[in-house]
Amino acid sequence: MKINQATIFPLSIPLIEPIKMAKEVIVDAKTVLLCLTDDEGRQGWGEASVAPLMTGETLDSLLASLKYLVDKARAVEWSTPNLFSKSCNAILYGNPSAKSCLEMALLDLYTQQHSISLWKYLRSINISIGSVGLTEIPLLRMLGGTPEKEIADAKSFREAGFRHWKIKIGSLSLEEDLNRVQLLSDLLEGDVISVDANGAMSLDGALRFCTSVQASKLSFAEQLISADSTLADFALLKERSPISIALDESIHGSTEIEEFMMANALNGASLKLIKTGGVMEAWSCAQILRRNNLKLNLACKVAETSLSGAATASIGFAIGDVPWGFSMSNQYLRFDICDQPLTAKRGHLELAQLNATGVGITPNLDRVKDAVAQDYSIIQY
Ligand SMILES: [Mg+2]
Repeated sequence: MKINQATIFPLSIPLIEPIKMAKEVIVDAKTVLLCLTDDEGRQGWGEASVAPLMTGETLDSLLASLKYLVDKARAVEWSTPNLFSKSCNAILYGNPSAKSCLEMALLDLYTQQHSISLWKYLRSINISIGSVGLTEIPLLRMLGGTPEKEIADAKSFREAGFRHWKIKIGSLSLEEDLNRVQLLSDLLEGDVISVDANGAMSLDGALRFCTSVQASKLSFAEQLISADSTLADFALLKERSPISIALDESIHGSTEIEEFMMANALNGASLKLIKTGGVMEAWSCAQILRRNNLKLNLACKVAETSLSGAATASIGFAIGDVPWGFSMSNQYLRFDICDQPLTAKRGHLELAQLNATGVGITPNLDRVKDAVAQDYSIIQY
């Protein structure tokens, strides 16, 4: 398979409401779509969102590396998905978001060419998964804002079927966060409730948080301490915490999962395609977690469109179990780039929402063009 043409769309899509994290406030999704046309006229789409604090890439740097990658990609014969990322690494060091974007578009083309869906293709290359059936994935809903809003959202989304939650913590005092957590834990008792500090806590603060009775109903606590912390700090936190420890910013691929596993420093991990450099590496990570009885959370960066949502969900449908839920972030966007955006049905994403072949979503070109970021233009090769 050869690439004949490539179009890059730098997008900015406003969020329904700003999302406050420990170290940033996000008001719009800066995301990049890539459309490749192969030598038989097929079109394949890829997406990667900008997350400077997670991958070090900005919108400008992501566009620059993607242009560089795509230009060189036209000389390559793309025939073996297992080798796609190796070929990307041979062109450019680092830049996992840009590589993920290109790999997704290539996988979309490859799976369309073979008339198979991406999730089925992933399953087919690992026969040990067997035929575990999964027709829907539980979606995880983020809670934030004023206490009144958090409570109102928790009630209304629970009524709509959501049972997986993430409370963003780390920007208030420890006591304030603990009070919020206790209030929401009581309200949502029996559900999978988690917190995410995006690395904002000190080790001492994290230990106090995890051992506090107010946090005792949590199912897991994600990235409480900074990814720069020592492995010994992470191991100590896991050893002393009665709550399961999840890692996000610390995990960029299977190497880190194995390192943290050896140090007995995690109970599970959050996988995002922009961190792993694409679907194939995320798929390897999901299998390592499963083999070692560690828990899996799937996540899109806040916020990505239905396209990235479908690619990320494919890992869940292929592996057959997503115990810590899926943060499908298109639910926070004011609008999406396809005619039938992925939506929550009773708090779940249903497999039936994905196309039968390819990644599962075909963007509508007019909608994509409408979302092009101000001061940026479409780039065509
Ligand atoms: Mg996180």
